[in-house]
Amino acid sequence: MIKYALICDQGHTFESWFSNAEGYETQVKRGFVECPTCQTKQVSKAMMAPSVSTSRRKEAIRAQTAAMTAAAMQAQAHAQSAAGPPPAIPAPVETPQPVALLDEGQQALRAMVRELHEKLTENSTDVGDRFTTEARDMQSGDTPLRPIHGRATLEEAKALIEEGVPVLPLPTLPDEWN
Ligand SMILES: [Zn+2]
Repeated sequence: MIKYALICDQGHTFESWFSNAEGYETQVKRGFVECPTCQTKQVSKAMMAPSVSTSRRKEAIRAQTAAMTAAAMQAQAHAQSAAGPPPAIPAPVETPQPVALLDEGQQALRAMVRELHEKLTENSTDVGDRFTTEARDMQSGDTPLRPIHGRATLEEAKALIEEGVPVLPLPTLPDEWN
């Protein structure tokens, strides 16, 4: 593409682009180029235009190149600073500290339950899973009555109570709460 400064027979100057010098000649001969001011097709190259246009273009190109260079240098500097000195050493990760889950009221409750559990079991025998059998044997008189404690399912405990066996569900120890 080539830009020509043109002038019409009325003295109006304007600029127009052509594919090349030949393209200019062809378009002007065919009447495709007209003055934007008076619409005459009697146009010709303005004698002074080419040199002016060329120098302006060189200036423009120089300015553009300078701008691009500055931008490229900026980008490079930015990249260098990003990859440059290592970032500050992160603060040491805080070691998790034991956390107090219980307030005073809950701690007192736990102590009470533990104490109750101890009182209920201190004189009784832990018969474990045989609790239901032992309780029935005592109830029926097959074995001497003695305080026992152990484990029974809810169904077993209900059955014992229905049979008249004095059963008291023990509170679970705080250690078993978790
Ligand atoms: Zn004109």
